[in-house]
Amino acid sequence: MKIDTFDTDALMPIAPRPPLVFVQGEGSWLIDHRGRRYLDLVQGWAVNCLGHCPAQIIDALSSQARRLISPSAAYFNDAAIGLAQRLADLSGLQRVFLASSGAEANEAAIKLARKWGGLHKSGAWQIITFVDSFHGRTLATMSASGKPGWDRLFEPKVPGFPKANLNDLESVRRLICADTVAVMIEPVQGEAGVVVAQDDFLRSLRELCNQHGLLLILDEVQTGIGRTGRLFASEHSGIAPDIMTLGKGLGGGVPLSALLASEKASCFAHGDQGGTYCGNPLMAAVGLAVIDCVSQPAFLEAVRVRERHLVDRLQPLIARHGLGGERGRGLLRALDLGRPYAAQVVDAARELQPDGLLLNAPRPHLLRLMPALNIPLADIDRLVEMLDRAIVAVGTA
Ligand code: PMP
Repeated sequence: MKIDTFDTDALMPIAPRPPLVFVQGEGSWLIDHRGRRYLDLVQGWAVNCLGHCPAQIIDALSSQARRLISPSAAYFNDAAIGLAQRLADLSGLQRVFLASSGAEANEAAIKLARKWGGLHKSGAWQIITFVDSFHGRTLATMSASGKPGWDRLFEPKVPGFPKANLNDLESVRRLICADTVAVMIEPVQGEAGVVVAQDDFLRSLRELCNQHGLLLILDEVQTGIGRTGRLFASEHSGIAPDIMTLGKGLGGGVPLSALLASEKASCFAHGDQGGTYCGNPLMAAVGLAVIDCVSQPAFLEAVRVRERHLVDRLQPLIARHGLGGERGRGLLRALDLGRPYAAQVVDAARELQPDGLLLNAPRPHLLRLMPALNIPLADIDRLVEMLDRAIVAVGTA
């Protein structure tokens, strides 16, 4: 594709992309190659928890880059030690493996559970996951995911991921057999369209895992690091997982993820797990800077203030256009348009004048809103006003 002076053909076509080239980001705003500004409600897919190019990340990157970038995963470095300790202290899960993407952390969680089953559960290896879930794009994490259509991609898949239905304990119970070692779940199914796992369901699931000696794996790649108004989404239900994965917001925009495990579940031996970039200090320093900011009680309270502001402002919009409603937790929210024209609304929002609005449509009738966790309240007002205009534009087109 030619976009003014840019030729994009050398990039593999992995997704449909609009004819824009982004060259700059500032907080809640992105700026394209023509200088046009867009209010960004995608934020790298719920990654930029502090917005685009925040001072904390610039400072962490530049000071760490001047000291040490990559001594290799074969040696300790101070930033990785610091981040692992911080995550262990905050989560109560004592052991941490640092990686680069959510899929990589989940892949490591799957390997850890299988290893644990081999050691402690007579070779049990199956992991119950959920219909419509999303855990990543490696072969094992695709197999673990319940995304519609993926069951036929890249066959044969990695076996051993029977699918239960979210918020249906009986459907989990029915799948438990001698080969079951764990249950893996997102506290809020983000890619499925922001579908919340009920607190009671999660508590009963924890109980069921205890009864059957199964590990409970929480995939908090999208929900962790303040996204739901708590540092970890598990705090809403009060459950303690045996294994938790983090990604996205942990790096605030740089590739960083983590696998956290209890002392009991932590059973990797030397050589079982690793990777060239695991625990590299450049990313770990950013993770520390992000955590220092997001874990402050005042920051998390401010996320909840923004949540209430956004939910309040969306109500008149829903009433005015007769939309289906809104849902979510914290600043991971979905607006149900009530009819399948989300893709058209996304396009119309991007084309608004004078500034555009960037939205994500995970389902034909659904918009997902993933603002920076520190989005100014005035930009939330502007978002709702722009959404209104985009919906009107599609309705009258
Ligand atoms: N788990 C969940 C819950 C996710 O939302 C995602 C990404 N959307 C992943 C895992 C995969 O993360 P990554 O794209 O960083 O591999």
